[in-house]
Amino acid sequence: DYAAILAPSYQIDRKQIQMIEALGHGQFGEVYRGILKTEQQIELNIAIKTCKEQDSLTTEKFLEEAYVMQKFDHPHIIKLIGVCTTHPVLLIMELARLGELRSYLVANRNDFDVITLLVYCQQLSSSLSYLETKKFVHRDIAARNVLVSNHECVKLSDFGLSREIDNSYYKASKGKLLPVKWMSPESSVFLQMAVILIVNVLYCFSEGIPNSDVIDKIENGERLPMPSPHCPPQLFDLMKECWRYEPSMRPSFTQIEDRLRFILKTERSN
Ligand code: ADP
Repeated sequence: DYAAILAPSYQIDRKQIQMIEALGHGQFGEVYRGILKTEQQIELNIAIKTCKEQDSLTTEKFLEEAYVMQKFDHPHIIKLIGVCTTHPVLLIMELARLGELRSYLVANRNDFDVITLLVYCQQLSSSLSYLETKKFVHRDIAARNVLVSNHECVKLSDFGLSREIDNSYYKASKGKLLPVKWMSPESSVFLQMAVILIVNVLYCFSEGIPNSDVIDKIENGERLPMPSPHCPPQLFDLMKECWRYEPSMRPSFTQIEDRLRFILKTERSN
């Protein structure tokens, strides 16, 4: 019963919430932009997820996302602000003002420089390595699940599909413990990480793309050649390492993060 185990401090009085406009459809219902007035009379911009069906099985599944989100505290993961657990059930989280990365990339494709895209990659790899330390797998890492707070800041969202890995999922490999789920190339988080890197960086630099078709292709796991002379060669090398068929040969998130930091430093000094 997620309503009962969510910390009492997360319970929000719906009188404090004002819904302003619809942002999009979620799996359970409409998502709105709104304002939360705190007891100290501070107004916070929020995103409000609603749940159309009100039966207990559905609301339980809906609240599972809140239960997962409350465990995380990272600058590049959307924060849970609270829940209304009485009907109609609501999930309240921090607002990412600029919406989905996918559409933001497509709409502003001419306005990105390599530094900004590398910053996004680094922010995402830091949120993924944070989840890795918390033994969580985000099972749906795709550009549509990354939200843009401002032009310099992206955040991972949508934890409805993430699952805590229990110890039975781990098996020893070269003395390290690796989650078995991450071992299969096609469902591998590392592969998905590579997908994010491509979507965000490489294809923003090729002429005429990204459009939605190309993003779909990449998200379906197609490996593509380096499309643009603007892509730093070290970045393309990193991506090829992420695509290695043998998962144990792929870099860890910590390594990805370090390498990205280095590439970023080199780009900034150019
Ligand atoms: P679900 O996981 O329930 O299917 P999503 O997380 O995909 O729902 O959200 C549906 C839509 O609402 C997304 O397309 C996104 O644009 C918008 N949205 C969700 N959360 C936020 C947020 N925190 N800030 C801004 N927009 C959001």
